[in-house]
Amino acid sequence: MLFETDEIKRSYDQCGLVWDVVERFSKLPRFFFTPSDMNVEAPHFAPWWGGVMLREYDNKAVQDLYYLHEMEHAGTMPYGPDKNHAIDDPVTFKNKIRDNEHQASALSEMTIYCEIPELRRHTFSHPIFVDRFLWPRGTCEKACQKFLDKWKNDPEMLSKEMMYARASVLTSQTDYENDLAAFWLKRFYSQGQAWSKIWTKGGRFVQVEKAMVVFRDESLGGDRRIALDRHLQWLFSAEVSEGTSVPFYTQAREFSTVYSAHKNRYLAAVKKNNEGEVIIPNREYSSKWAVQNFSPGGG
Ligand SMILES: [Zn+2]
Repeated sequence: MLFETDEIKRSYDQCGLVWDVVERFSKLPRFFFTPSDMNVEAPHFAPWWGGVMLREYDNKAVQDLYYLHEMEHAGTMPYGPDKNHAIDDPVTFKNKIRDNEHQASALSEMTIYCEIPELRRHTFSHPIFVDRFLWPRGTCEKACQKFLDKWKNDPEMLSKEMMYARASVLTSQTDYENDLAAFWLKRFYSQGQAWSKIWTKGGRFVQVEKAMVVFRDESLGGDRRIALDRHLQWLFSAEVSEGTSVPFYTQAREFSTVYSAHKNRYLAAVKKNNEGEVIIPNREYSSKWAVQNFSPGGG
């Protein structure tokens, strides 16, 4: 099994939130892959075209959160209802990716802890955004009953409420210098805009949107194996991978430059802050989109 943490496995076995995520993800055939060029592919947004990069983290709970985040991206990513209505408008596309990132992040950064509060002690030693709701006193001992009750009674609404609270931090003018969890959320946000710019240039995103409508319809209406084979052939066609082993190599390389520059600034800031003995969140795992803690839209 992909998941390694007992709490996550239990939620799957007991048909809880993790089971829901995996079920939604599995509605279409998917593929897992090992990157051929980590420098270029690390921040590539493969869930958009149905792929999940295999990654190893020292902290296995964080690794499981990474996979849940990527699965939620893929499982909740909408495409046009039919071939004639594939998304081809850049503004709608940007909004869609942004919303998808918010949704995946709300799951892997917040609602997973409503479902499995005991997971929190296995993840990060630094404060994260959800702590202010579930553990407002700053300890991971007992989660706030009010939020646990809300989660039990109306998980969809609480998920949205938390998602927008997080989104408000990202788009706010406040710099949150005295609020480290919010401060670091915000620091990663700008990459989503760079990502959208790269993909809307020349309308490149339309190619993915159209291909995904075809892939989805072929998968649901016929043999999943054949549909996936065709889809992979397309991803590695000359038109898409440009003779490399990376689909959309040009876009991957372009965004990896932005990503690396951002990461270096972040690491420098961490170093500086550590020297000042300030606890800094380790968001290495999620750095693709500040937003996304793991991918674009912010990832
Ligand atoms: Zn993401």
